[in-house]
Amino acid sequence: MSLLEVKNLSYTYGTNTAFEKKAVKNVSLKIEKGEFIGVIGHTGSGKSTFIQMLNGLIKPTSGQVLLDGADIWENPKKIRNVRFRVGMVFQYPEYQLFEETVEKDIAYGPKNMKLNDDEIGKRVTDAARFADLKPQLLKKSPFELSGGEKRRAAIAGVIAMDPEILILDEPTAGLDPKGRDVLLTQIATYHKAKGNTVILVSHSMEDISKIADRILVMNKGDMFAFDTTKNIFSKGEEIEKIGLQIPQITKIMIELSKSGYDVPTDVYSVEQAVMEILKLRKNGSAASALKINKEAE
Ligand code: ADP
Repeated sequence: MSLLEVKNLSYTYGTNTAFEKKAVKNVSLKIEKGEFIGVIGHTGSGKSTFIQMLNGLIKPTSGQVLLDGADIWENPKKIRNVRFRVGMVFQYPEYQLFEETVEKDIAYGPKNMKLNDDEIGKRVTDAARFADLKPQLLKKSPFELSGGEKRRAAIAGVIAMDPEILILDEPTAGLDPKGRDVLLTQIATYHKAKGNTVILVSHSMEDISKIADRILVMNKGDMFAFDTTKNIFSKGEEIEKIGLQIPQITKIMIELSKSGYDVPTDVYSVEQAVMEILKLRKNGSAASALKINKEAE
């Protein structure tokens, strides 16, 4: 049984009004424990609506969300527990910091879970460590922190609830390239260390390709594709056709392949590309060596 399964999931805003909008259309998929899933698509493709259904923030218009095989809406009174199990980091989460100190902010979730003080303390320390927040920052007001620190403090608040599934909606939005890399590395480290499932929404294929095991591509409310990162990039041109940017390095490989070079097109990291191009050179030199030898004969 999968940790999370969605069956024929749909969501319509403003049903039977002039503003009716089918935001998510009949999506079915399964996500396993420990997977790192990337969700990508244009603005308005249904990403936020989709993830908000996963932790019961909004109720599907039709279809089901199954957590460990049980429909999360089976008992609406228990939906709070689902939100503890499926943690959600919203876009610009730092706007939700409100306590006097960073420590209290991070402890807010665990307190709501009615954990004892020892456990709460431990959760706060662990979460702050994952978010790379120095202990001396914990006593400060969240408003004294830098932009990046605030973002990480807000993420720590969700991590402190130790969710089985952590969902992050555009966690790097608005950060500079360095801040983006640092945060992505931290999320990857958290995922490795905890072995929990992570679902990361981004509009950057470049970012997602670096860390996701599988990628869900949303297009106009439909599930355009859901596959391993490698398979998604083997369809690089189809992805570009729906107007999504693929990594520059994948484009180079596609162009090389079109020009007749024998290279794979499902390449999305510079390291992989270098390996493939070096192979080409080796084969190329082997071929020319063969030719020279033949000519000498
Ligand atoms: P994404 O996260 O990919 O940008 P959203 O899930 O936010 O996409 O939006 C999907 C579609 O639903 C868009 O057309 C958007 O305009 C519409 N939508 C989103 N939220 C609302 C809302 N609260 N009321 C009406 N329409 C909405």
